[in-house]
Amino acid sequence: MKYAIFGDIHANLEAFLAVLEDAEDQGCTDHVCVGDIVGYASDPSECLRIVRSLDCPVVKGNHDEEAVLSTSLEGLNPLAKFAMEWTREQLNEDEREYLTNLKLVRQVRDFTIVHATLDTPGSWTYVTNKFDAMASFSYQFTQLCFYGHTHTPRIYVKGDSVDAMEDTTVNLEMGRKYFINVGSTGQPRDGDWRCSYAIYDVENQEVSIRRLRYDIQKAQDKIIDAGLPEMLAHRLALGK
Ligand code: ZN
Repeated sequence: MKYAIFGDIHANLEAFLAVLEDAEDQGCTDHVCVGDIVGYASDPSECLRIVRSLDCPVVKGNHDEEAVLSTSLEGLNPLAKFAMEWTREQLNEDEREYLTNLKLVRQVRDFTIVHATLDTPGSWTYVTNKFDAMASFSYQFTQLCFYGHTHTPRIYVKGDSVDAMEDTTVNLEMGRKYFINVGSTGQPRDGDWRCSYAIYDVENQEVSIRRLRYDIQKAQDKIIDAGLPEMLAHRLALGK
């Protein structure tokens, strides 16, 4: 049994389709989403429709939350703010209800999923170093947890100490815990434009992060055609 675990799709349909196709090629039978289906790119409703059709476990991201609120967007940067106002206009009542009802943390089989952190999941802080990871590990009651939010794939492992691994594949060992950022499907920010997701191979107790090329030109054209800020199209190519 293999899980495809993805998140931070951010309405980038072309990237999402590439991930789903690769997951199928790799023999994944189950899907899991760590949140931020919408926000930034041009296809929030279609990405939502696909996630829902997969009938898979999903947790709420900060953009999923923001998209269904009617409060002001003062906390967001200007690009995110413009994109969020646009996204709010796209969603219908049914889609808003689906996003509203998503949970912040879920357990799936023998692992946990969350968008941002396990210690304060609703405050949308970022895990950017091993000290942040340590805080989440204190609230991690399964060996394995997958998250997103930073748009940067990263494997943290907790044995006697907490460390960030260099490798993108890890064989799970008894007595250790793993807090794994699957990277972003639709808007990577680690300087690599290719979309990112993780595969959890249950039989072999192995997790690997995969990077894939996708039709970025099409995604960029659609962002511009939708009237979204051009910078949102440019940043896809920069991986930032
Ligand atoms: Zn995000």
